[in-house]
Amino acid sequence: MPLILRTIPCLNDNYAFLIHDPDSKSTALIDAPEAPPILAALKAEGWTLTDILLTHHHYDHIDGVPELVAATNARVTGASADALRLPPLDFAVAEGDTIWIGGHEGQILDVSGHTLGHIAFYFPAANLLFSADSLMAMGCGRLFEGAPEVMWTSLSKMAALPPETLVCSGHEYTEANLKFALSLDPDHPALVARAVDIAAKRAQGAFTVPSLLSEELATNPFLRVTDPAFKSKLGMADASDSVCFAHVRALKDNF
Ligand code: ZN
Ligand code: FE
Repeated sequence: MPLILRTIPCLNDNYAFLIHDPDSKSTALIDAPEAPPILAALKAEGWTLTDILLTHHHYDHIDGVPELVAATNARVTGASADALRLPPLDFAVAEGDTIWIGGHEGQILDVSGHTLGHIAFYFPAANLLFSADSLMAMGCGRLFEGAPEVMWTSLSKMAALPPETLVCSGHEYTEANLKFALSLDPDHPALVARAVDIAAKRAQGAFTVPSLLSEELATNPFLRVTDPAFKSKLGMADASDSVCFAHVRALKDNF
């Protein structure tokens, strides 16, 4: 049976995710901003937490781990490169490694840039990518630790996944990201259409995360730097993708 996905809002604007394999009853949490809403979601579903998968060391992705481990005894998986900054790990993983949630294979991608040691979890059969603060809905994480080329390499890796991939990112930042995207390219049809969709979702109090990778490819200004027409609009027709990405990231930092 396919994995079941649940999106759990935490703190002010964070998202945690649960995936549940009905055959094995395995349940994994991706990121642990705080324990109470996650424990409440597990109780409501009648699921037992077996695994906690951590994307990166920031407090708003790990602070709930001690309480969740105490309550559930779940095993903790995180990046070996970041083991010293993460809570104690049962499994330390790196790009190329495979994890299993019941019968479902997850692949580890190194998506450093926001932090060095940021990983993403990709479940190919379910078309699920847990990208946290690397690739986000119409955005990408701030470059706290990585150089722009490092983040560009990470984003390129994710952009090459199947377009039907569902991008489960770590924050509800979409409206602010949309404003920035529109400031660069106000008449881009896909962006204008997505603006309507996002306004409708927010008016209903609905989440804008996860989003489809195909939507990100069409509207995310950090992925659109491969598009010659977009480059020209930025006055960077002759720049490499990576240099153009660095430029867009710098513009966003000062937006
Ligand atoms: Zn972060
Ligand atoms: Fe975060």
